[in-house]
Amino acid sequence: MNAKTNTPATGSVQVETFNTVVIGAGFAGLYALHRLRDQMGVSVRVFDVAGDVGGTWYWNRYPGARCDIESIHYSYSFSEALQQEWTWTERFAAQPEILRYLNHVADRFDLRKDIQFNTRITSLVWDEKNKLWQVGTKDGIIARAKFLIAGTGNLSVAKTPEFKGFENFKGEIYSTGNWPHEGVNFTGKRVGVIGAGASGIQAITEIAKEAAHLTVFQRTPNYAAPIGNAPMDSETDRQVKAHYAEIRTKSRNSFIGLPYDQAQPSALTVSAEERRRVYDECYAQGGFRLIFDSFADMLFNKESNDTAAEYIRAKIRERVKDPKVADILTPKDYPYGTKRPPLETNYYETYNRDNVTLVDIKNSPIERITEHGIRTASGEYELDAIVLAIGFDAMTGPLLQLGIVGRNGEKLADKWANGPLTYLGIATHGFPNLFFITGPQSPAVLYNMPLAIEDHVDFATDAIQYLRDHDLDVIEPTLEAETQWVAHVYELAQQTLLPGTDSWYTGANIPGKPRGCMIYLGGAPAYRKICADVQNNGYTGFALDHSAMKHSTATA
Ligand code: NAP
Repeated sequence: MNAKTNTPATGSVQVETFNTVVIGAGFAGLYALHRLRDQMGVSVRVFDVAGDVGGTWYWNRYPGARCDIESIHYSYSFSEALQQEWTWTERFAAQPEILRYLNHVADRFDLRKDIQFNTRITSLVWDEKNKLWQVGTKDGIIARAKFLIAGTGNLSVAKTPEFKGFENFKGEIYSTGNWPHEGVNFTGKRVGVIGAGASGIQAITEIAKEAAHLTVFQRTPNYAAPIGNAPMDSETDRQVKAHYAEIRTKSRNSFIGLPYDQAQPSALTVSAEERRRVYDECYAQGGFRLIFDSFADMLFNKESNDTAAEYIRAKIRERVKDPKVADILTPKDYPYGTKRPPLETNYYETYNRDNVTLVDIKNSPIERITEHGIRTASGEYELDAIVLAIGFDAMTGPLLQLGIVGRNGEKLADKWANGPLTYLGIATHGFPNLFFITGPQSPAVLYNMPLAIEDHVDFATDAIQYLRDHDLDVIEPTLEAETQWVAHVYELAQQTLLPGTDSWYTGANIPGKPRGCMIYLGGAPAYRKICADVQNNGYTGFALDHSAMKHSTATA
């Protein structure tokens, strides 16, 4: 067992040294802690800026927040006992229930005692001499660790609003990604929501039911489709629990990490009637079936994609009474699925309500926030509250705000100035013993997140175990392996429709952020095989122990 040790810091404060420090106490951090401490017996400390566990589900408490993957799949698979004892009340659990689940996990595995909450890590500096990471807050170094696991999530840094004049607004301002714990009562209020992505769509539907008037400021319309939520029925629960192991295996063998298996090869090789039948069935079943269980070429063939896009456009026209409003809500200039498709319940019907107004800010942009509301190019909208649902500095944002400095004083922010450079989306050259959980250039956000997280935590912790077993100190990807991986990620992306669309998938949602492909698009099974081969061959593409130092010097 690697006992934790105390090493003196500068001054008199004792700084503890751990085998591994984990950043984040969401799905990733909780599992990493359990695996390292309880299954491997190493010393570990988790840090989180939040006051408790939950990660994304701690912060995103806005009305309507719920997962968009069925909860029986959007949950941990690592413990059969946990799978059997937990029962979801809805097909797609709402945020409070997911947070209860993560609290249950923390209690069940006694995790809190090794988590330090209310602690924002702002500096992670590699100490080459001692081969340790120095973990710091704005007040100085608070821990040291041989290994670092960044379980910081992909959508945890809110986008900074570009609108001028916020300081003048006399009303309330909320952000979906950091919602007040006590909730917000919009009764009798005039509310404006900026943004109509997955968060906005969920929030808009609920706020409209409460507010006196809701004004939605939408720039780009989305291809939203029904989520198909319902109470969890006991027979499904029983069936799933009886076959959980097979279901998880099937999920891990599918592109998106869900046990879907109905997709036909192409929308273009079937009749119009058959296409319609498939789309009707998927639209009625809900979840991500329409995009991932209909036709396998949806993200690869524009013509095929057009058939699904047109299907959704027709649905919007059917569901929204006012044709002008329907037209504003209809996406026209990018393929379906190239922005993450939101799922909804009665979202389009919300625009049939008398108390809801849709403002097209693509044609009439927001000019500024005023004392009393929002002024667009076509007029001023008076509001008592503004809700920002404008998204996140996705994938790279959470890692870059950690202040990571690697070998030879290199800053991760400098290395990634033109976009992320990783090996397998798990590690990056020049930054030894650092593992990203669902990092950029892994399948991450296109792979059922809890399973993707478990795969990465297993990879990282197996690597740590391998080093211990072989009396090695350092693991770091070679520059060559990284360069090849990045090229592979881009090559795969070029075969899809994704690079052409402005979205957080490409970094285009943040002004000034380098545009690139941040997702491995070969699907979970291909990715998992690559990772397994890397592991089984003694960590191909990684330099281990002192060879890492030599390699770094040679390529510096
Ligand atoms: P998002 O998809 O990036 O949507 C942000 C919205 O704000 C877009 O409509 C965007 O318009 C708009 N916006 C941003 N900056 C703007 C500006 N300067 N002026 C006008 N409009 C602006 O963010 P999100 O809705 O928070 O979702 C992010 C991701 O989180 C999702 O894709 C999903 O992966 C995840 N999520 C999941 C769930 C779930 O169901 N489990 C729920 C919420 C979020 P443009 O499109 O024109 O940029």
